[in-house]
Amino acid sequence: MKRIAILGSTGSIGTQALDVVRANPTRFQVELLSANSNADLLIAQARLFTPNVVVICDTSKTSLVKEALSDTDIKVYGGIESLTQLMGMDSIDLVLTALVGFAGLEPTLSAIRHRKPIALANKETLVVAGDLVTRLALEQRVPIYPVDSEHSAIFQCLAGEMHNPIEKIILTASGGPFRGRKRHDLESITREQALRHPNWSMGAKITIDSSTLMNKGLEMIEAKWLFELDPSQIEVVVHPQSIIHSIVQFRDGSMKAQMGLPDMKLPIQYAIAYPDRIDSDFPRFDFSRYPSLTFEAPDEETFRCLPLARRAMEQGGNVPCVMNAANEVAVAAFLADRIGYLQIGELIERVMDQVDFDGRAELEVYLESDRMARRIAEGLLPVADARV
Ligand code: NAD
Ligand code: MG
Repeated sequence: MKRIAILGSTGSIGTQALDVVRANPTRFQVELLSANSNADLLIAQARLFTPNVVVICDTSKTSLVKEALSDTDIKVYGGIESLTQLMGMDSIDLVLTALVGFAGLEPTLSAIRHRKPIALANKETLVVAGDLVTRLALEQRVPIYPVDSEHSAIFQCLAGEMHNPIEKIILTASGGPFRGRKRHDLESITREQALRHPNWSMGAKITIDSSTLMNKGLEMIEAKWLFELDPSQIEVVVHPQSIIHSIVQFRDGSMKAQMGLPDMKLPIQYAIAYPDRIDSDFPRFDFSRYPSLTFEAPDEETFRCLPLARRAMEQGGNVPCVMNAANEVAVAAFLADRIGYLQIGELIERVMDQVDFDGRAELEVYLESDRMARRIAEGLLPVADARV
């Protein structure tokens, strides 16, 4: 029985992870659940899965959750600092990091310090501090199992190949809802249009990232750290059907790909059940419904976030951290109708140009770079509407 802490249990990955747990009650037990502010769902999940502990990061809701669970033995804590501390609980066997954004960094580092294996969905953690996180994981001998479907694909292709050097990896991208459009077509894109992803149903932030191709940019950096690659070994190809989840090419030229219907439950299950493959009733792929799988180069003239991320990956140091922070601010501003769609990439580039390079792989550097990038990004946003 594996006892799991699910960080971000109320989100898209978190709820699907709980579906996997519920379908496998003899394998998995939930030890800890956490959410940012969705108290109602967290309470419902706690009643259903009876974890030892729940954490609500929004402290204005702690007493509400405590009150609602007062007739149970479940311990309730508030604040992300509590979450970070609780990663030391002896009863946790595996931590699934399914929260979104930079907020995932400190709880993940704490879990690694406490030697907890990680199932990592929170890619921003590796983008921001991949150097620090992977070095600590190596020192502590802590495995990081990827949940992101592309990285899970690569991880699956590498089974039995660990001693064989990788020539390159090819990350597949759906191309998002605006594939084929040009920049002038994107000027008036609305929040609702950008939130409609063709193949995947995900949280709002990653859905916007997928539409701008920043998600693929973040994933290049995630792959660099997970698989110890040089930036020159990482390619992106657009594959609109999202059936091939990524490809590894070995030095003899042989390519291995992992495929399946786009369903995040599969990589989630693989990461938490590793090294076992366990039964599932997920829908199976049917060739007759996919007579052709197609591939094309990404349009980097239109989707400028992808070359920006490549630049960040190549520069290294605090640049990916700065880019990530600017992206988080820009996406939130777009979702709040404060900036237009094309301004997301423009804002990120301006912030990247303004923050000084720092190559030290230290937590303090990343915290400070994140703070500074957010401050600059906020300063570049149009003044909030003053109407009451
Ligand atoms: P989501 O927005 O649906 O859920 C995020 C979860 O994190 C929620 O439970 C929320 O309460 C919690 N959270 C958000 N901000 C927080 C904060 N500041 N402090 C503490 N908790 C916070 O997001 P998601 O789509 O499930 O994505 C989660 C992570 O997984 C992201 O890093 C994303 O890039 C990655 N990912 C998601 C998918 C997907 O299909 N959804 C696929 C691959 C990778
Ligand atoms: Mg992905």
